[in-house]
Amino acid sequence: MHFTDLGLAAEILRAIAEQGYDTPTPIQAQAIPVVLEGRDLMAAAQTGTGKTAGFTLPILQLLSTRNAGLSLKRFKPRCLVLVPTRELAVQVHDSVRTYGRHVRLKSTAIYGGVGMGAQLSALKSGVDIIVATPGRLLDHIEQRSADLSGIEILVLDEADRMLDMGFIRDIRRIIALLPKKKQSLLFSATFSDEIRGLANGLLTDPVSVEVARRNAPAELVSQSVYHVDRDRKRDLLIQLIDDHGWHQVLVFTRTKHGADALSDRLGKAGIRSAALHGNKSQNQRQRALDDFKRLKLNVLVATDIAARGIDIDELPHVVNYELPNVPEDYVHRIGRTGRAGSRGQAVSLVCVDEHKLLRDIEHLLKRDIEKKVQPGFEPDPSIKPQPIQKPRTGARQAPPSRSAPRNKPAHGGRPSAHAKPASHHTGQRHR
Ligand code: AMP
Repeated sequence: MHFTDLGLAAEILRAIAEQGYDTPTPIQAQAIPVVLEGRDLMAAAQTGTGKTAGFTLPILQLLSTRNAGLSLKRFKPRCLVLVPTRELAVQVHDSVRTYGRHVRLKSTAIYGGVGMGAQLSALKSGVDIIVATPGRLLDHIEQRSADLSGIEILVLDEADRMLDMGFIRDIRRIIALLPKKKQSLLFSATFSDEIRGLANGLLTDPVSVEVARRNAPAELVSQSVYHVDRDRKRDLLIQLIDDHGWHQVLVFTRTKHGADALSDRLGKAGIRSAALHGNKSQNQRQRALDDFKRLKLNVLVATDIAARGIDIDELPHVVNYELPNVPEDYVHRIGRTGRAGSRGQAVSLVCVDEHKLLRDIEHLLKRDIEKKVQPGFEPDPSIKPQPIQKPRTGARQAPPSRSAPRNKPAHGGRPSAHAKPASHHTGQRHR
């Protein structure tokens, strides 16, 4: 199967070739012809499967060929992509720009945590495609800076995450403002009853496509568990990073506070590190992400929500500094590595408090994960388990993309206004 077999136009194929892709991923092979036909789509696909190009490529083609020439004059957006987080908004918008570089379509990303000014002027100048988080889009709708009455195509990307983050009411409000006649595409990693309910109300005679779930975890990711005492995890992590010369490590903690504390500690050990979570400003988060991609930082310590959708090609190492409370999140976490054909390594540091969480994860994976003990870090068998502290805002963190408190999401408040400055450590060692 080649991209040329999928019915894509020459300008789109050119952009794909420039990206260096030669074969469509399974989700692309299945979704692209369906979208080009104008059908509604319900797709089970996780990040890392190539789903973004799966909807972006055919949408660019449809918009550039249908009513060609009209789009730049009419100043009404024609396609809306809703995403859960600002990071994902930026990434999806980057993809739109990359794949759309040879077609005459304008696009913009709309998300909270930054000023309205630049977004207002982009919307005012007229765009064809809006990639937006729900909260900020509603702010624009209230201010009448976004007019959705001309939307021809709607995409809900990572719909399960949007619902987890309490966006259902916002999404329904937005959908109510769109024309009845439109093409709708829904992407979700999981299909709960709530997602099915949303899909039933939105999609007309949809084609369902599904690609292998990544919790048949990628064979390309090697997984291991280090048993270690609660209080020795930091030292073990530092030693693993040093011993193995890891230069790009995404480390997961359960709480924002834990992410800050660990990042500080790594910084003191001379490891260049930053924390990424919902209390950081948009600029801090983007800078940390950029620095991490460019290897100016070697470690990014993130919470689950903040790390959602982080798209780093060939990220070599993921460390679960603490196991997630929800076993599915383990699969999402390790799915950050071993992507697009590269090999990855996922290491979990597990203390006596987390044995049950580990069993739940192994149960979900239907296999045991290899266990290791680092010499000098053997667990002390006399240490008793302690209850695991839940993040203060509940099981999930607040959505990082809202700019103003409107209807509070079900699972917590908005990010704290008391955002601390980025703990950006530039240690002495250069890696
Ligand atoms: P996504 O699941 O959309 O987040 O994409 C995951 C990664 O795969 C991104 O880094 C894309 O650049 C990359 N990618 C998407 N489609 C292809 C393809 N056909 N061949 C190789 N890499 C791809």
